[in-house]
Parts: sequence; C-alpha cells; structure tokens
Amino acid sequence: MGLYLDNDRGTYLETQRATARGLIRAADFANEFPEVSLHVYRHVAIEIEAMVQEWRDDLTGSDYFDNDSASVPTGLLLMFLEIGSLWRVDWDEIATGKLDTFPVELLQPKAARDLIENERPLGAPLPTCPDCGFAVLMLADDWHFCDWQPAAIDALGLEFDDV
Ligand SMILES: [Zn+2]
Repeated sequence: MGLYLDNDRGTYLETQRATARGLIRAADFANEFPEVSLHVYRHVAIEIEAMVQEWRDDLTGSDYFDNDSASVPTGLLLMFLEIGSLWRVDWDEIATGKLDTFPVELLQPKAARDLIENERPLGAPLPTCPDCGFAVLMLADDWHFCDWQPAAIDALGLEFDDV
C-alpha cells in the first residue's frame, strides 16, 4: 500500500498532505492533552486511512469501474484492485514509513522536569530541550512545545500552507 501511494505523483502529493494534516492533528492533541503520551504515527495513520477511504468511496460511488473513463489515475485503480479490502491495510505501518526521517519526539510536549540543565561556563544553567535544543525559561508547571514544522518541512518535504 505504501508503495502504491508513492507510485503516482498525484497520490504521492495527496499522501503528503494527509501526513501534514496528521502532524497538525497530533500537535493539536498534544496542546490539548500535554500530559498524555503522544503516538504521532497514529494521528497520521488516521488521516491517511481517511484519505484512502474517501478515494474508495469516490470510486465505488460512481461508475468508475464500469466505464473506461480515463480520469481514473491508473495507479489508484491498480491499488484498489490489488488490495481488495482496506481492512487488511496496516495504516500504522504506512504512517511509520512516511515519518521515518522525522523526529516525532519533537511533537511530544515536554514538562519543565523533562528539560535538561545545560551546563554553561558562565552564569546560571539554562533548562534546555533535549529534542530541539532550544533553551527555555519557564515555570515549573509549564509545558514546552518544540517548533516542529520546520523539521517536518526539511525532513519530509511537507507543506503546511494548504492542508
Ligand atoms: Zn523542544
């Protein structure tokens, strides 16, 4: 399935958009429930699955399979013929594959106690995030959220302007 999604430029770009939506969804969840451990790949999997189910509904809701409309992307048609049932698809595995070059821990909120004390030669040690390296000064009960979008753009080539 992951192979099929990357096969065709159109489905690749749509999958990139779904991945971006999944990361935003994960970040929203993290902001709302910072104390809950975050499974980033799960949020991305949900978005990719929803995307593919929408394609499937589009295809089966019309006469695509009965006519020889040239508008169906060949890769997409082959994908559905090959997979048959979407129940067999391991969406988490696909999402994990999409995220393999992205440090997902950036999305995990860090409590003040998770930050490491940076040894500075001069002055007081600064609490520093182990994942993004950003030195933050905050109250003991605050949460730190890394700036993850630049890393996602660099590592995964995602765009967040239009998702
Ligand atoms: Zn950070």
